[in-house]
Amino acid sequence: MNCPSRGRENPELLLDYSAAKLPRQLAAELEAHLHECRACSELVAQQQAVWSALDLLAAPEVSATFDRELYNRIGQQDSWWSRLIRPIRPALVLWRGPLVAATCLVITAGIVLEFGVPQEHKATSVEIVQPEQVVHALDDIEMFESFDHSVPPASSIPEL
Ligand SMILES: [Zn+2]
Repeated sequence: MNCPSRGRENPELLLDYSAAKLPRQLAAELEAHLHECRACSELVAQQQAVWSALDLLAAPEVSATFDRELYNRIGQQDSWWSRLIRPIRPALVLWRGPLVAATCLVITAGIVLEFGVPQEHKATSVEIVQPEQVVHALDDIEMFESFDHSVPPASSIPEL
């Protein structure tokens, strides 16, 4: 067996041996090694001393009202947020409506500034046309129509 305390193979093997968690075969091999290796035997002795000292410790008695007192204390504790807003809480209750409206307005303004107004909601521009412009446009149309009747078709023009 390789030395568990010196090699990186399995140093927890000694802890498991001290806790009596090893299978018999492996525990027997380790005991044979402990007779030969001073480092491992000292580590096992120290670990067993720690286990013995821990066995001497006794847990304090828990009172019968422990759970109830614990839950009462948990219920009494305020969160950091409620402690932070406690001084301004009456003002928040009084100004709740305007605060919500102002918050919505700021959020809406932020969205409009970031993304703009959609095209279909933009106001369309109306161009104002004077009556004289309409009369001139109609006159121009009539003049172009008279050109069509006065010009002979291209096939009737003699070639030069
Ligand atoms: Zn060893």
